[in-house]
Amino acid sequence: MEYEAVIGLEVHAELETRSKMFCACARVDSTIARPNSAVCPVCAGMPGVLPVVNRRAIEYALRVALALECEVAHSSLFVRKNYF
Ligand SMILES: [Zn+2]
Repeated sequence: MEYEAVIGLEVHAELETRSKMFCACARVDSTIARPNSAVCPVCAGMPGVLPVVNRRAIEYALRVALALECEVAHSSLFVRKNYF
């Protein structure tokens, strides 16, 4: 039996958006902001809430991808993790 090694990268970046990635809460500098000073039911992951993706963040991410000559998928799927 032969195996093919498939190696992926998960890259995290903080983009200069006004709000967070999945809600309208202001993006704050977590090194100086008071704890829990910018939290809503969506970013707290409360049951029944629906995150809405930040359009500007997607635009910025695509700009970075194009600048780095990355291959961009035509569609992407996001599944929110739930921790009980
Ligand atoms: Zn929020």
